[in-house]
Amino acid sequence: PTSKLFEPLTLRHRTLRNRVNFGAHTANMAEDGLPGARHLGYYLERARGGAAMIVVEPIPVHQTARLTRGNFRHQDDAVISGFRRITEACKAEGSVMIHQLYHVGQHGDYDLSYAANWSPSGLPSYHDGDGSHRMSDSEIETIISCFVEAALRAQASGFDGIELFGAYHALIDQFWLPWSNRRDDRWGGTFLNRMRFSTEITSRIRKAVGDDFIIGMATSVDESVDAAMQTETLQEIARYHDERALIDYITCGTGSYFDYGGIIPTFHYADKLGAPYAEALKSVCRHTRVQAESHLRTPENALAVIASGQADMVSIVRGQIADPYWVTKVADGRHDEVRGCISCNQMCWGRRSRDYWISCLVNPSAGREFEWGGDRFVKTDAPKKVLVVGGGPAGLEAARVAAERGHRVTLAEAGAQLGGQFRLAGMQPRREQILDLLAWYERQLNRLGVTILMNAPLDPDEIAAWDADRVIVATGSQPAGTGFQRSLPDMATLPGVEKPNVWSVENVMTRAARLGEHVILVDDTGDWRGLGTALEIARRGHRVTVVTGWATLGEFLRRTGGDKIARARLRQAGGSWITESCVTAWEGKSARVRNNLDGAEQRIAADSLVLATTNVADTWLHDSLRETHSELGVELIGDALAPRLAVAAIYEGRVLGQSI
Ligand code: SF4
Repeated sequence: PTSKLFEPLTLRHRTLRNRVNFGAHTANMAEDGLPGARHLGYYLERARGGAAMIVVEPIPVHQTARLTRGNFRHQDDAVISGFRRITEACKAEGSVMIHQLYHVGQHGDYDLSYAANWSPSGLPSYHDGDGSHRMSDSEIETIISCFVEAALRAQASGFDGIELFGAYHALIDQFWLPWSNRRDDRWGGTFLNRMRFSTEITSRIRKAVGDDFIIGMATSVDESVDAAMQTETLQEIARYHDERALIDYITCGTGSYFDYGGIIPTFHYADKLGAPYAEALKSVCRHTRVQAESHLRTPENALAVIASGQADMVSIVRGQIADPYWVTKVADGRHDEVRGCISCNQMCWGRRSRDYWISCLVNPSAGREFEWGGDRFVKTDAPKKVLVVGGGPAGLEAARVAAERGHRVTLAEAGAQLGGQFRLAGMQPRREQILDLLAWYERQLNRLGVTILMNAPLDPDEIAAWDADRVIVATGSQPAGTGFQRSLPDMATLPGVEKPNVWSVENVMTRAARLGEHVILVDDTGDWRGLGTALEIARRGHRVTVVTGWATLGEFLRRTGGDKIARARLRQAGGSWITESCVTAWEGKSARVRNNLDGAEQRIAADSLVLATTNVADTWLHDSLRETHSELGVELIGDALAPRLAVAAIYEGRVLGQSI
């Protein structure tokens, strides 16, 4: 490849084989605080896939730094042997290995740290509302020593260097910023005093580890909150560390603990979020290498950021969770084969926030590499004839994986397009990454020689006549006629539900619905069916009022970090919402809306009613086959089993596909 993205880059004593790194993030896979087989498999897969530098996730340096149960142990040499297995395996594949060391100061978690959170000035936490303890001089010295000891442990574990966590308003950047550092001793006050903490950490680490060891610094900018790091301030800090040769590289993300949304941007955010900040740091650093991160995602973005000189290297995290072979494929010019991350945060940040090990919606082998062998498939010795009925996420994944294994696969889809419910989600504002993923599936099935039949609703006898060795039914779901709101009444018995101006999500997204000027949307789902459809209705110029039993708009988005921006987007589009309420009757030109808390009812005038309910499984074909052709041993997956999230559908497709 001729692109600069694939030119080597020297970083102190190491040479990166290209400019695409797998940056730090909490995979949260430690068992009893130790790195095990799951961790090893996870990182090794990305090393095999071509990542130049892998930053093995934040390790707490002290008990007051612990944030999750899946964190590695702090201050314990017991981690060394497990890390050594990871560094040796990944280095053998050509990756440079870095270890990230962290302490989040005032934002710690009291339950896990078993001690008060420690911070420069005793300000409260934003993780859980705990207060924090203003560190004494000797406690500051303790933490500095812990950073140095952790760096030595990293060196003993075979890492090529460490990265210090000074991002999102962690302990290091709490010392940097006057808002959180209100000390008047030698650790606070003047700029130089505020730099003392990171200066001591970096210089003492350098003295302890010698010259042949990389020291990086993770930082971030959050311009939406005055108290958080601003671009010019970070430039000043970067210049300070650069002039004194305290660090070898600096990486800059977006967001802060004041506003989680920007840390791991969902599809609501623009691409290349972090590139301007990397560029700002490039302009002030003479020696220090600069890495761009935050929603870079695609080969095109990464190529552009490096070609334009905005950064020396890029960190693609979710992109390589979604496709561990991102780098190899792009280096080979096979951009089309990269399975794109859809910025959903459901299985990476979503699982991490619930303190599970992370995985991926589009790549269920993430975190299971040690069990499944990653996304590489062993060819079968006995190819079978496989018929998959239904082209939603479950059917697509089952067909793809069965074909990867060498089976002869036919996929029959009743409709005119692949994707099922997932396609409806992809048609909503800013969700086009889902359509890209569906296009990827189609290309993969074509590459693998799968026969795709469109507009092919097969009946039981036709399926039996197919004479397939395996029949997989993935017929998905249908809009619920019998859905219910989170509080009564049942949607099917909702007075007025039979009126002609009542529509489903499917009606709206396929444009079958003829919507009036003001639309009331009943959101019973808390996910894309409600909020996404409301945004789409608003985008088409209608005024939309969302009535939901949830306490927040978009419960699902709240859990995955996208609710705040979705609310802002709906408000900007003239939408509004009524939470903790239900519609008790549709009167044709108005809805009766009842507050679930106090029972108060109001009548709201509107022209149309849209019901966003949870779908019901479409099991007709499966049940008929079981009755009339029980000899076929039909298997059922995806939304046809019960209402399924796309993540469960793809997981089931994968498991079944690889079991054939
Ligand atoms: Fe991307 Fe979603 Fe996978 Fe996370 S779970 S890596 S956001 S596709």
